[in-house]
Amino acid sequence: MSGTRTEGGRADGKSFDLAAQGRICSLCPNMCRFLCPVAAVRKVETVTPRGKATLVGGLGRDETLWSEEAAGVFYNCATCKICLEWCPSGVDLVEVTRGLRERAALDGSAPGPVKALRERLVADRSLYGQASELARSLRRYREMLTPGAKVLYFAGCSTAALHPGLVGAALRLFETAGVKAAMLESEPCCGLPLDLLGYREDAATFAAGLASAVREGGFETVVSGCPMCTYVLKERYPALGVSLEVEVRHLAEVLAGPVPAAALRGAARIREAGDGPGARRRATYHDPCYLGRYQGVYDAPRSLLADVAGLGLVEMDGSGGLAACCGGAATTVTVVPDAATAIAGRRLDEAARTGVDLLVTACPHCLDMLRPAAGKASRLRVADLAEVLAERVGAFPGRGDR
Ligand code: SF4
Ligand code: SF4
Repeated sequence: MSGTRTEGGRADGKSFDLAAQGRICSLCPNMCRFLCPVAAVRKVETVTPRGKATLVGGLGRDETLWSEEAAGVFYNCATCKICLEWCPSGVDLVEVTRGLRERAALDGSAPGPVKALRERLVADRSLYGQASELARSLRRYREMLTPGAKVLYFAGCSTAALHPGLVGAALRLFETAGVKAAMLESEPCCGLPLDLLGYREDAATFAAGLASAVREGGFETVVSGCPMCTYVLKERYPALGVSLEVEVRHLAEVLAGPVPAAALRGAARIREAGDGPGARRRATYHDPCYLGRYQGVYDAPRSLLADVAGLGLVEMDGSGGLAACCGGAATTVTVVPDAATAIAGRRLDEAARTGVDLLVTACPHCLDMLRPAAGKASRLRVADLAEVLAERVGAFPGRGDR
């Protein structure tokens, strides 16, 4: 396959043959197409997992098939990984997609919105305006930090820009749970959007910058409520050649530890005693792709919702490893925004079918997709795990803060 990178980089640092992955699909009944969220809403065969794999196989035989249109097929993927969960042959479409996106980024055939997003990211060092502006907006939480703490709370661009109240909620939960945390003066983007768009070198530069800030701060653990941030720090930094050398954990994993969870449970019980007994509320939980399938964190958020927030959990048809994507992961919002919105609507409908009135997730990107979608089914409140827990233990800084 001249010109096409047949060796794709993997998160675990090994490489594999893209074309060989593509060939496997040609002998398969192609049932994964019914789980692929992008194929479900776009209804185009080319963007099914097998459609993408077939194109890779074709490129192996005929290089002239490569074009901007062909490149666009590989940006029609939410990188949700549900096809891998299903695939009997273990075809990793996300790694296939990564390899072809890197080629598109290198030779300039990536879609226009992808190039524009890359330019904005490189200029601003954040997804939503300048990183320094975001830092200013978070100054009100400074008093809740412990200078010199070994735990770094990393909010991430999306939380800082669109859900700053979740920063307050996380820090109040830390206080209640006895976890001392600090934050960086100014948080740069973790680099994941660039990595996902195919701009590997830019992503590595971002990763090196953040890794050096973490090292200078002398931190031992990085905690974030954004699973995309924790995934890239944990899994992709090593693949990009950047060593972080600290433990990286999602907020849910830290709070579900025996000591923090006991402290939060205690605070929730004191609150409950003050409020008087109430009917046990029910909720459903949406597994973010990057927390569940990517990092295997399924139990921690559920145990916090049940044991601390006192919620009765009702699972959706697709949950855990087979949870449907919200449409927000990676590039769908940038390249095919209508498809992303339709994917969110499908997930919201699935949540509504459980009959509960609260949908909880543990990712700011899922929140961005599912909350607007809930406009259609206003009975259903969509909330982040941190805000639900903080409300329960009486630690949320206030609704006006969101
Ligand atoms: S990705 Fe797996 S399940 Fe889907 S068509 Fe290819 S081999 Fe079959
Ligand atoms: S990772 Fe998700 S969006 Fe991409 S091809 Fe597989 S199922 Fe479809």
